[in-house]
Amino acid sequence: MGEPLLEVKGIDVAYAGGAHALREAGIDISAGERVGIIGANGAGKTTIARTITCMTRSYRAVVRSGSVHYDGRDITRWPAHRALRNGIVTIPEGRGIIANMTVEDNLRLVLVALPRNRRGSLTEAWSMYPVLGERRRSMAGLLSGGEQQMLAVARALLARPRLIVADELSLGLAPKIVKDLLAGLSLRAAGEGTAVLLIEQAAVLSLQFVDRAYVLDHGRVVSTGTSDELRHGGDMTARYLGIE
Ligand code: ATP
Repeated sequence: MGEPLLEVKGIDVAYAGGAHALREAGIDISAGERVGIIGANGAGKTTIARTITCMTRSYRAVVRSGSVHYDGRDITRWPAHRALRNGIVTIPEGRGIIANMTVEDNLRLVLVALPRNRRGSLTEAWSMYPVLGERRRSMAGLLSGGEQQMLAVARALLARPRLIVADELSLGLAPKIVKDLLAGLSLRAAGEGTAVLLIEQAAVLSLQFVDRAYVLDHGRVVSTGTSDELRHGGDMTARYLGIE
């Protein structure tokens, strides 16, 4: 086995306000793999997403110890734009869509931040989600919740990612919509060898889409296993997640 694409080791992260969000947490993900991080409210899921995408600084959080390696390089203290330019792309919690910009401009905005070799084409976005193409001149804020999440997925794929970090993609959406979104994302990711880190409070749903997962609790990884093990293991993890 080669090195994992991403390796987070013993990471400790704290916010300026004092919240100690991650405690010696470690995860890894290989190229093309689909891995989940599940956990309750406040477990540290969003903080680990911010850490991997090098966005802690924007939220006044500090990596106190530990490291993040990506593609063999130590990226722990990289700025976020460098991570993006190297193929680490987020679908952020809350989608990060700019409501008073058109659908097309939301996509163009990411294109200008990318080096030429990482720029996908708008045509690909429209063919993946025809509804976005039809509404490309509409303000993004006028789209339905599901369509806005499609826009967030399309925007991530446009950056030709090697690793997609999706944070609470399911939030506020009907299960059928979430399943369609995840199926589309998985298909595209598999086709291009993109690794997907799916960060979700919705454990049952997440485990249907990932090969294996980590369970985060109060900033620590308390369990890990394949989706089947976590679903049917009958151990404390299943009980803890309420998915027995
Ligand atoms: P949720 O599902 O509620 O988003 P989560 O698992 O994503 O939870 P985090 O958002 O990472 O968890 O929060 C972990 C801890 O860090 C919590 O105690 C939270 O209050 C704190 N925290 C998160 N964001 C910030 C911030 N911007 N400033 C200060 N503290 C924060």
